[in-house]
Amino acid sequence: MKFPPFAYERPTRLDEACEMLAVEGARALAGGQSLLPLMALRLARPATLVDLARVSELTGLGVDDGGNRRLDMGAMTTHAQIEADSSIRARFPVLAKIVSHIAHPAIRHRGTVGGSIAHADPAAEIPAACIALDAEVLISSVKGTRSEPVESLVAGPYQTTLRDGEIVTRVIFPLRAERRAGMDEVALRAGDFALAGAVCVLDRAGRDDQRGTVTFFGVEPRPRRAEIDLERVRTSADDRTYWVELASRLDEVIEDVHGDPSFRRHLAAVTARRAFASASTQQVGDFV
Ligand SMILES: Cc1cc2nc3c(=O)[nH]c(=O)nc-3n(C[C@H](O)[C@H](O)[C@H](O)COP(=O)(O)OP(=O)(O)OC[C@H]3O[C@@H](n4cnc5c(N)ncnc54)[C@H](O)[C@@H]3O)c2cc1C
Repeated sequence: MKFPPFAYERPTRLDEACEMLAVEGARALAGGQSLLPLMALRLARPATLVDLARVSELTGLGVDDGGNRRLDMGAMTTHAQIEADSSIRARFPVLAKIVSHIAHPAIRHRGTVGGSIAHADPAAEIPAACIALDAEVLISSVKGTRSEPVESLVAGPYQTTLRDGEIVTRVIFPLRAERRAGMDEVALRAGDFALAGAVCVLDRAGRDDQRGTVTFFGVEPRPRRAEIDLERVRTSADDRTYWVELASRLDEVIEDVHGDPSFRRHLAAVTARRAFASASTQQVGDFV
């Protein structure tokens, strides 16, 4: 299919990009892995595409061990860069693992972290990982800058709280001592969107885990973070019942050609249990 007609701009500075996106009908273009198919299907008809590829303020990636203790990545960081980065592999292995489930290498080389958050696909891995790991985004527009946790930014299926003309500029993950994380997902074929997935995060204080959460994706219209009753998991002879119960509390489960809500709840329970097992077997250290 052919694209509808559009104008094309390629700014090199963030302030230029903000000016261009303040014009009615303009839309940010990151890797084009979601927006271009929507345009080809005539589901999106932006008057102007503002290509963010050359905006230097949206690039760069690094773990800050000093005062800020955080992982900071530009919105134009690609899934492939996350997968390959040695500091992420060492300090945030769950992030490196989760992006390896996104589509195929060609798509991972173009798709970006900012685009994935702004697109807010309910089955996307990146928004769920951001919510699980307490990430926040920095946002710029001609009106100024602001920050927002990804948990509140992702409002629903393909919906965010981003206002017209706003650009996600950076994604910040706090570096928490003694945090461990694991993930699991089920898809029909390798590289397909997940039918259901889960990211588990365990925070230890002293000798025991004090808090555990599991963030489901692909199950409800937006990722859902739930608290784990760690005492129950520790003391139950067969913890399967616990994960089934937890998944039964998901109340807006997606129904589509791939399965009815009971099937997805089953997959949610299975992936949550595996994500928990994966997080539990990590060494406690300064990494997630
Ligand atoms: C065949 C195929 C399979 C895929 N499988 C998966 C999968 O399994 N899991 C998965 O998570 N994803 C999957 N994707 C999507 C892919 O991960 C994309 O990278 C992701 O959706 C974001 O796309 P993008 O970065 O190219 O953004 P674009 O497509 O360029 O933009 C997406 C949306 O975000 C907006 N946007 C982009 N950047 C910004 C920004 N910095 N600030 C504000 N708004 C912005 C755009 O205006 C647009 O509305 C798949 C894509 C394809 C084509």
